[in-house]
Amino acid sequence: MHDTLTVLLISDNDADASLIEQALAQGRAGEWHLKRVRRLADGIDHLTSGETAAVLVDLILPDSRGVRTFDALFAVAAQIPILVITDRDNEGIAWQTTQRGAQDHLLKDHLDAYWLPRILRSVIGRKAGEDALFMEKERAQVTLNSIGDAVLSTDIAGNVTYLNIVAERMTGWSRQEATGRPLADVFRIIDGVTRQPAPNPMAQAVRENQTVGLTENCVLIRRDGSESAIEDSAAPIHDRGGKVTGAVIVFHDVSAARAITQEMAHLAQHDFLTDLPNRMLLSDRIASAIALARRHGKRRAVLFLDLDGFKHINDSLGHPVGDLLLQSVAQRLTACVRSSDTVSRQGGDEFVVLLSEIEHAADAARSAEKMVLTLAAPHDVAGKELHISASIGISIYPEDGQDAETLIKCADTAMYHAKDKGRNNYQFFTGDMNIRAVERQYLEASLRRALERREFVLHYQPKIDLETRAITGVEALIRWRHPERGLIPPALFVPLAEDCGLIVPIGQWVLHEACRQAQAWIDAGLPPLPVAVNISAAEFQGRDFVEGVRTTLARTQLDPRYLELELTESVLMQDASTTAASLIALKALGLRLAIDDFGTGYSSLSYLRRFPIDTLKIDQSFVREITAGSHDDTIVGAIISMGKSLKQRVVAEGVETGEQLAFLRRQHCGEGQGFHFSRPVSADDFAALLAARKDAVPQLQAG
Ligand code: C2E
Ligand code: MG
Ligand code: MG
Repeated sequence: MHDTLTVLLISDNDADASLIEQALAQGRAGEWHLKRVRRLADGIDHLTSGETAAVLVDLILPDSRGVRTFDALFAVAAQIPILVITDRDNEGIAWQTTQRGAQDHLLKDHLDAYWLPRILRSVIGRKAGEDALFMEKERAQVTLNSIGDAVLSTDIAGNVTYLNIVAERMTGWSRQEATGRPLADVFRIIDGVTRQPAPNPMAQAVRENQTVGLTENCVLIRRDGSESAIEDSAAPIHDRGGKVTGAVIVFHDVSAARAITQEMAHLAQHDFLTDLPNRMLLSDRIASAIALARRHGKRRAVLFLDLDGFKHINDSLGHPVGDLLLQSVAQRLTACVRSSDTVSRQGGDEFVVLLSEIEHAADAARSAEKMVLTLAAPHDVAGKELHISASIGISIYPEDGQDAETLIKCADTAMYHAKDKGRNNYQFFTGDMNIRAVERQYLEASLRRALERREFVLHYQPKIDLETRAITGVEALIRWRHPERGLIPPALFVPLAEDCGLIVPIGQWVLHEACRQAQAWIDAGLPPLPVAVNISAAEFQGRDFVEGVRTTLARTQLDPRYLELELTESVLMQDASTTAASLIALKALGLRLAIDDFGTGYSSLSYLRRFPIDTLKIDQSFVREITAGSHDDTIVGAIISMGKSLKQRVVAEGVETGEQLAFLRRQHCGEGQGFHFSRPVSADDFAALLAARKDAVPQLQAG
């Protein structure tokens, strides 16, 4: 079914009107409904009320004449097609109306059944088409301006024809300014990585006659020079014949997304604390360095660096300070190497450096030397001057390994070797080091079995009153009687035991054995002497340490005043409040507390005052310096007088010579311990020594 179309006829001419009426009546029934009025005013009335598909108007009306008639109609009904009816004499005026918006004019001779419906259908159809097109354009316009994407189009010559609001904002060009300019002026894009101009997507879209994506990492340079990462595509525009007439580029800002992607990639590949490349990135870098080296027959070096005594600093000064120190180390290492090298953090206090431009192994040695030196300068951390050294192991491609994993492992092994050689130095990997690494594993395995096999023994070293030469106490020192290797000193297995947690059960055994032995001597009638037992940080921090000591004392029936615990400064400085609580609880048991290796940690006077410490043991290193006549003399003197003022006993460790003894006596140091008096000896030998010097042992005062 078709709708009936209302045609408004405004004419005072009855002859014309009846012609028109007849012409329209002859077509399909119900196609037309003719509404006729005589005056312009009535016509306008009708237009503003009813639905009108088209207007036929005679310009000469009773209330209006000429072009004015048309203008008045057009003013109220611009959207309705208006046809002017005219005779040949007035055709000139009719032409004018066409220019002012009339759809067309009709000569009165053509008002017949053939022409009139045709013309009406044509103008109504054309008008509807125009309206639809306008709507379409309007819709496109609104759409283009409301979407988040920037849209830019060009003609076939590559000149800009259109920008939507987003494109205006992103390019910095207004549509007016941009129109007609070459695309490259308005849409300046570069490759974000190479910073080279990126290929023009429009040209490609036109050339290939298909939609093309922009280059990856595309960056748009705004008119003011600012940049944004963009992403998207260009597509050709065709005319009705399918010929390409231009292109549309659609793009959007991906700066934020790209930044997040980059940030994530960075996080995944870097260490959060130092921002250095992590293990993963290092492996990649080594792999590509090896690939290049292989092609050019070059060498590469991998340096495995471990800080000496970092754990001690971390434990005594706290993790925040430890973290700052690691950052300082990271900065110095990075400053030490070339930009083509990679400094990475493996975790903890371990760093791995890849040197990618070395000719000879000696170049790697020079770098390692430089690192050792650079790290040695004091680090300004949290208002403190911290000293740290490093042990470095070096492996070389291609000699030591063909892949990242092997090279790192070799460098790691060489690093342990550097530690064994006294720290603060570097070592190249050598084949026999692998044997040592295996040995370390073997040692750990046999250490696990040593307790049940009863392979540990304690040796005892007396402490001597420097004034009277009397024996004032004895220190229990552990040894490992290895079935194949003989007596192994604690320096070779206690750190290993600490690393793998075995120190706790071993320590329990030591405490029990020392107390048992001390009580056995007393029971044998020897003069009672306090026995000192060394306690590792890991033992002290164990949850039931105090309880364990209490139980051991009860089981061995040793009077608590004959037990002394030797702790290091680092133990004391860990977590002040819980440490204080444990120390007070231990003191409450009635035993004595000593600080071992005093002077090597970062002790402050305040904690010495705060904690119930009975004895300070001056570290061997200071005593050793006495012979060298260095300024450490004064340190020893200072410690002695400090101990005195705090009413603590002071024991000098490692007294080897008469000269040292004389100096210590001059400084009024209370007690000493060292080879000069006696080496650590077996329990039996010590009992014999004690029996022989029975008289030289003073009666211990209670408390
Ligand atoms: P330390 O507690 O400072 O013990 C003193 C160390 O110096 C002992 O080494 C002793 O043999 C050595 N020494 C004594 N007089 C002299 C001397 O005149 N000159 C020299 N050069 N050295 C002297 P040792 O027995 O090898 O023990 C080393 C360290 O191992 C101890 O240092 C202690 O920290 C640790 N240690 C020993 N036994 C145990 C234990 O049962 N448990 C724990 N946790 N650590 C222990
Ligand atoms: Mg000790
Ligand atoms: Mg010591």
